[in-house]
Amino acid sequence: MQKIYGINRDTLKHSLSRTLFPQRCPICGEVVEDDLICRPCRRVLVPVAEPKCRICGRHLSNGSEDLCDSCRTTVHFFNRVFSLFPYNDVIKKSIADFKYHGKCEYARFYAAELYDKFYKELVKISPDVIIPVPIHIDRLSSRGYNQASLITSELSKLTGIPEVTDLLLRTGKTIAQKELGPDERRKNLKSAFSINKNSDWFSKYIKTAVLVDDIYTTGSTLDACSNVLKRFGIKYVYAICVASVES
Ligand SMILES: [Zn+2]
Ligand SMILES: [Zn+2]
Repeated sequence: MQKIYGINRDTLKHSLSRTLFPQRCPICGEVVEDDLICRPCRRVLVPVAEPKCRICGRHLSNGSEDLCDSCRTTVHFFNRVFSLFPYNDVIKKSIADFKYHGKCEYARFYAAELYDKFYKELVKISPDVIIPVPIHIDRLSSRGYNQASLITSELSKLTGIPEVTDLLLRTGKTIAQKELGPDERRKNLKSAFSINKNSDWFSKYIKTAVLVDDIYTTGSTLDACSNVLKRFGIKYVYAICVASVES
């Protein structure tokens, strides 16, 4: 390892980048040293509580021991979702800053938390690839980044699982999902996603994939993506989300 004046070069690079682009707490926005979240905010964040739906991973509020009302009545294309935090006001603001106000550095925190919480599950399902839920090229150029891609890259660095960003594309234009009900969401997403024949991964065998997204609402986006990926030939499609709306 190269040393500069007795200082490890990697350490120097790390502290320089921290000075130029300080890591901020994803909850209160204050600068944090040597961590990705400040201590008081760490205590505020609690993961999705047990019992959880065995398909969508959301907290079960219906007293059932295995499935939420939505997963009882909807046949999902994905195999299972791992959701980290309940989508409460605290995480809602954090994700909105991350998504719409350029707080890209929060991706490191989300990925680290996802890794800590779901490491064992990831080892068990042993995915070949992780794939961010894509956004349309027009949205990408107006926002400048795909928030799910940022989390995927960080998660790929932590796990060593390759990220695949050019196989699944969002080609159809859709209206913003948050303005629609469950049935309208599904209709809106029909034919929104497609497989890119020019991707290097097009000719490779992928048995298991994990989709990455920020928020799980009704599961319709993940279903539309999973449907396309399974028709392409991927046998198992799981998903990992930073937050999920109560079932
Ligand atoms: Zn904080
Ligand atoms: Zn469910």
